[in-house]
Amino acid sequence: MSGGMATSHRSESSLAEAARLRRDTVPVCAFCDSRKMHLIMDFGDVALAGGFLKPERFADERFFPLRLFFCEECFAVQVVDKVPAEVLFHDYFYFSSSIGTLRDHFKQYAAEVTARFLDAPNASVLEFGCNDGVLLRPLADQGIRTVIGVDPATNVVSTIDDARVRIVNDFFGEAVAQRIVAEHGKLDMVMANNVYAHIPDIQGITRAISQVLKDDGVFVFEVHYLGKVIDEMQYDMVYHEHLYYYSLLSALAHFDRYDMTVFDVKPVPIHAGSMRFYVCKKGSKHARQESEAVRELKRRELAQGFDRYETFRLFSRSVAAHKDELCALLDRLRSEGHRIAGYGASGRANTMIQYCGINHQQLDYMIDDAPAKTGFYTPGSHFQIHSSKVLEQPDAPDHLLVFAWSFFEEIRRRNADYLNAGGSMILPLPRVSIHSARPA
Ligand SMILES: [Zn+2]
Repeated sequence: MSGGMATSHRSESSLAEAARLRRDTVPVCAFCDSRKMHLIMDFGDVALAGGFLKPERFADERFFPLRLFFCEECFAVQVVDKVPAEVLFHDYFYFSSSIGTLRDHFKQYAAEVTARFLDAPNASVLEFGCNDGVLLRPLADQGIRTVIGVDPATNVVSTIDDARVRIVNDFFGEAVAQRIVAEHGKLDMVMANNVYAHIPDIQGITRAISQVLKDDGVFVFEVHYLGKVIDEMQYDMVYHEHLYYYSLLSALAHFDRYDMTVFDVKPVPIHAGSMRFYVCKKGSKHARQESEAVRELKRRELAQGFDRYETFRLFSRSVAAHKDELCALLDRLRSEGHRIAGYGASGRANTMIQYCGINHQQLDYMIDDAPAKTGFYTPGSHFQIHSSKVLEQPDAPDHLLVFAWSFFEEIRRRNADYLNAGGSMILPLPRVSIHSARPA
């Protein structure tokens, strides 16, 4: 702790001190080491998205700076404030297989890559960030002989009880890559889903991918797509663990430095808009067959200016205007005496609350359908989380601010009774709008 004349807990912490110091220095691009970095958005000091807590922990809650930058050299959009992995992975509650739509998605995904690239009985596939095996099992079902999963989260991988799957309980990187090549030889395919955007040492992991892949091998990864963030103003997708926001242009510049290239892309309607990238080594048979989808997306991204800082400066200006509009609406409804609760206490809610400065004068509490969150408080903003049963009670809120706005249709269906009883839903994005029951 610093011994300064601090007036609040947050300014007392040596962490905030360090953050101020870091804000004065220009960050280095995680992909290309360039210092030609430009600030897109500064969210301030933000609590970790997954850090739901009880009041007795409020005093020692930790805050970390959260800033989004654009690299002029390689077009990578990135969070530059990296939180130590031991802090991030401390509580890891996310089990992919528990979500039905994800299970179906990965089953299809496994069938598709097998049919397209793999000679099933002899093929070898590695997935890093394999979570609870939601993709590994369907790959084994396809008859792939060597299926390897790498993941550091012990409590999650330990649930994979399948003799067909080899588990390496570790962070994937060059050391693990060497061990795997020594034991299995080089592999036909490496896969990564929703993790290639989360890895601090992106250069090391990309070298590791290149090391384990055969010359004609394919690296397939799915990540949230930058174009969706820009088109739908999804600034609420920005949080500490989500370090990178890939465009095709930035992916091409990145893989070029490893003698690799993107030869196909496929939009995936999951997590509010993902993109699947197919990557190969230059000089491989796939590299000679760049798809029409790649050429088309490249054209579109150049037309949208994803290679220019100006595009992202305009984006941050639109986001600032969105914040003013949302806060003005909340203030007006409150001045009329309305009760407002937030719906969906996710990391995305955390980012929006933090950026917009939504406070306890504007919002009463949060509602979430996950029973595990009931009774906890949101990180940083400390709104209490209730179960959706409160919507059936006489003092139900007049409005729900739907932070889980990308699931709006589902939420509207599930809460038809609330809407029919006169409740309303406020959608913050892609534009601020109010929805009540449709006339019968
Ligand atoms: Zn760069």
